[in-house]
Amino acid sequence: MNDKQLTIGWLYPTLMSTYGDRGNVICLQQRAQWRGYNVEVLPLDLQSTAADFRKIDLLVGGGAQDRQQEIVMRDLQGKKAEAVRQIIEAGIPGVFTCGAPQLLGHYYEPALGQRIEGLGLFDFVSKHPGIDARRCIGNVVFEITASRLAKELEAMLGKPAVIIGFENHGGRTYLGKVEALGKVISGYGNNGEDGMEGAFYRNAIATYSHGPVLPKNPFLADWLIQTALQQKYQTSVSLSPLDDNLAMQAREAMFKRLGVSEPVAVGKR
Ligand code: GLN
Repeated sequence: MNDKQLTIGWLYPTLMSTYGDRGNVICLQQRAQWRGYNVEVLPLDLQSTAADFRKIDLLVGGGAQDRQQEIVMRDLQGKKAEAVRQIIEAGIPGVFTCGAPQLLGHYYEPALGQRIEGLGLFDFVSKHPGIDARRCIGNVVFEITASRLAKELEAMLGKPAVIIGFENHGGRTYLGKVEALGKVISGYGNNGEDGMEGAFYRNAIATYSHGPVLPKNPFLADWLIQTALQQKYQTSVSLSPLDDNLAMQAREAMFKRLGVSEPVAVGKR
């Protein structure tokens, strides 16, 4: 058995890559390769079967416009929908940005046209208030508050995890019982009203944060890789550190620009 192999499933790359979230796939692939893993990126699209969906160790879904979301949801039914459900319920990690999580909630109501029924994996609903409504666009900063994830990231970082991203959405998401991913420090988040950002269920991360989010927050990429490997090999995995100095400098510049102070390391408070 090759014990250094990782398969990344990429949901509908041609339909759901409008907002640059392909960067998340590249980031995961590169960071795993730098640790000596052999990475396969498996596109999961209109031609794929449910069996293809079951091959993956980590799942990535990006943003899309309303029209593409409809095409995807017409395809993501039956056995494919069941496969996605089983993957997430089994604890296989995933990162889903903007349009992707809208489809994994109960439903998405686009700006025009009919409600699109989602997979109901995340207990939330998303609604676009209409073409005249202001879009939620701009840099977003939030602190991870989903309890298990917050704890694991704090253990990695020695301080609370703060995410920097860029949001661009018309749809607003309203959580049911699912845990929020984080608490907004600057920006709109899920709906610009309740101060929450994204959602976290099992090991699946839903967020409105493009950027793409992983290269800007490399510790989140490492958490996903580590969790995927632990799930796959059922043993604890620790990843060797990488030089993230440039990403950290970019984060500092953005914190400064937005007037947000980054949490300090535990022990330095
Ligand atoms: N079409 C969705 C919206 O406007 C998703 C946009 C996106 O993925 N950035 O809310």
